[in-house]
Amino acid sequence: MKKDLPSRWIYDYFSPSEVHKHAIKGTIYHGNSDIQEIVVAETHNFGRCLILDNEFQSFELDEFIYHEALVQPAMIMHPEPEKVAIIGGGEGATLREVLHHKTVNKAMMVDIDEKVVECAEKYLPTFHNGCFSDKRTVLTFGDGRKFIEDSDEEFDAVIMDITCPLEEGPAYKLFTKEFYALVKQKLTPHGVLSIQASTTSPVALQTYTVLSKTLQAVFPNVFPYAAYVPSFALLWGFCLATNDLDPAQISPEKIDRRISERVNSELRFYDGITHQALFNLPKYLRKALKEQTHVNLDKNPLMEQYPGLADKD
Ligand code: SAM
Repeated sequence: MKKDLPSRWIYDYFSPSEVHKHAIKGTIYHGNSDIQEIVVAETHNFGRCLILDNEFQSFELDEFIYHEALVQPAMIMHPEPEKVAIIGGGEGATLREVLHHKTVNKAMMVDIDEKVVECAEKYLPTFHNGCFSDKRTVLTFGDGRKFIEDSDEEFDAVIMDITCPLEEGPAYKLFTKEFYALVKQKLTPHGVLSIQASTTSPVALQTYTVLSKTLQAVFPNVFPYAAYVPSFALLWGFCLATNDLDPAQISPEKIDRRISERVNSELRFYDGITHQALFNLPKYLRKALKEQTHVNLDKNPLMEQYPGLADKD
C-alpha cells in the first residue's frame, strides 16, 4: 500500500519553469527586516534551513559541504592566515569555519542584515556554534562594499558569502570588477579572495562564468571550482582569486598536514583528496568558462531575476 506523502512543502524556484521542493515539518520563523524577507523552516530531510527573499541559503544537514568548500581551500592554501574578512555569511557558518584555524587572530564579519544574524543566533545554533562570541570575532552590520571601501586593514583572506546578485536585492554591487579591485587593494601579498559564485547548472551558467571572467580582469590567478550540495540538488560554484597562490601547486599530503597542524576541529568535507575533486571541473563547465567574454561592471551590473515565490505553508 502506498504510504501517505507529507502534506507541507516548500518550493525552491531555480527559474519560473524549474522548482525543487522540500517537505517541511513547519515554519520556525517568518518575518521581514528592512532589507529582506527571512524564513527559517524545518525540513524533513535536511533539518533547518534559512531562506532570504525566497532564495534558499543553506540547510542544517549539509551546510558543512557548502561552508567548508567556500572557506577551507582559501585558508589552507595561505601560508599563515591571521586576519580574515567575511562579507555576508549571516548564518555564522562561514565565520565558524574561519575560526577553526588556530592561526587566525582576527575575523571581521560584516553582514548587511542584523536581523538575519539575530535569527541565526536563535534558530540556527548548529550553524554558528557560538562563534559570534569568540574573542577573535569582530561583528559589524552594514554594506560589505562600504566596509571594504572604508577599511584601513589588510586581510590574508576575504571570504564573500553573500546572497546572489538579484535584481533589487542587497548584493549585486559586490560582484563587479570595481568591487573586486577594491578587495585586491586590501589583501596582503599572499592574500586570497574566495567567493560563492552561484549555480553551475548547464541551463544557468551566466553568473558563474561572468564572475570568473570578472575576477580575471582584476587578479593574475583565478580558479573557479564547484562542490555538489545535495539539498540544492546542484553542483554549486565558487571561485578563488589570488596574486600568487595556485591550488594545483599544493599536494594532497601538504593539505592534510596543514589541516592537522592548524585546524582545531574535524572537517567533514574538505581534505587533500577533496581538494583535487573541487578544482577538476567537468568539461562543459571548462568550455563555458573559456567562452565567456563578459566582465561585470558597476555601470551595468549583472542582476538575476527573482525566479518565483516560495510557498511557506
Ligand atoms: N549561501 C548563500 C547563498 O547561497 O547565496 C549565502 C549565505 S549568507 C546567509 C548571505 C548573507 O549575505 C545574508 O545574511 C545577507 O544579509 C548578506 N548580504 C547580502 N547583501 C549584502 C551586502 N551588500 N553586504 C553585506 N552582507 C550582505
